[in-house]
Amino acid sequence: MKKILSALLAAGLIVSCFGGCNSDRYASLPDEYVAGTDYPTSFVPRYNKFPIAPGEGGYYFTMGDFLFFMDGESKEIAPVCSKPDCRHENESDASLAWQCNAYTGTFSFKFLQLYEENLYCLSAANQNEEGKLQISESSSLLKVSPDGTTHEILCPMPLNLEFIAIHRGYLYYAYMANETTCTLARKKMDALDEEAEIVFTLSDAYWGYFFPNGWHIYFFASSSDDSLSTAYDYDLRTQNIEKLFDKQIIEGIVDGKLLCRDQSFNIGTESETAFTLYDTKTRESTPLCSVSVEPEYSWPEYATDGKLIYQFLSPRGYPESEEYNRDDGRRVMMVYDMTGKRLMSTDLQNLPAPISLAPGDEKYGFFWYEKVYEEGAPLCLDLLKKGEEFKTETIFRRSYAGLRPDLLG
Ligand SMILES: [Zn+2]
Repeated sequence: MKKILSALLAAGLIVSCFGGCNSDRYASLPDEYVAGTDYPTSFVPRYNKFPIAPGEGGYYFTMGDFLFFMDGESKEIAPVCSKPDCRHENESDASLAWQCNAYTGTFSFKFLQLYEENLYCLSAANQNEEGKLQISESSSLLKVSPDGTTHEILCPMPLNLEFIAIHRGYLYYAYMANETTCTLARKKMDALDEEAEIVFTLSDAYWGYFFPNGWHIYFFASSSDDSLSTAYDYDLRTQNIEKLFDKQIIEGIVDGKLLCRDQSFNIGTESETAFTLYDTKTRESTPLCSVSVEPEYSWPEYATDGKLIYQFLSPRGYPESEEYNRDDGRRVMMVYDMTGKRLMSTDLQNLPAPISLAPGDEKYGFFWYEKVYEEGAPLCLDLLKKGEEFKTETIFRRSYAGLRPDLLG
């Protein structure tokens, strides 16, 4: 009995320290990605914020208003809710559906991360005085246990969010404080009710992407006059924010370096995109590779998982042309290795509906899309199987309305 008590006491001490000791326990972490305490940058989806997060043995994602888990081996998918009589996303009574632990509610900006044993996402759903579902304009941070046993609304978040990450003891988030003022703030995870610390503001600008890596967050912002980008290095230990370079877009992290491309890609005249690697320690840039841009396409967009470069190309004329016919041209994705060798090309066949890729890990990339032209406008999730010649497999396909109980009335 004594043994059990002391073991319980020790476990209690560990738990209480884990919850709120101090930020010193992060101090020994290396200046590179560490799973569990760090934001997984290769899961940052592009173009539409499709929320997906790697977890123990699989992946968490939201579809419509619900949180799901996919087992990494069996690919079985289940809602993150352990309530015994809950019908989860199949609940047809809107006044009950929100009581499901997997219910996150709808909010335009999407975020999902597994951080130190809990899932965090955004929700605009709350309970009103009568205990009924109420959707508000702004969002709150929501904490859900990965086994679906708890569901807790934490702090309110500002409007116009552009980025959120939980990283080494802090919640970092960027938003537009007004139409042209970029603001980056942070809060300690063990003091979310306290006022945020504003770490950076920029006037007459708009946000680009953010790449947390080790003890740094690399990000870029563009001027609202000339749209030119400036990249910054935010040192999380010193709180120093330093300008790195201009006119380059950061596409991701490769071997701890920044994968960059020239911002001045000229649609219609240039036939390739050149990439460089920027070493943040030596502040030096070296050429990496070039990838071609097929003449019938334009609007090259890129992403990386650190090993491969993903290129999206849209047919010329899209999306400005009102005459655009979705059967005329296809959106394609190409995959390249870091020498610029093309490994695959796939027809995405889904214009102009929203599509989003999370580059993912060594095993899978993830495509999220809406089949807006099909009955029920299903929401779909495809795996991009990197070890199987980049074959794709649809693992989730459900009607949009069925995943949105707030629409049931
Ligand atoms: Zn449920």
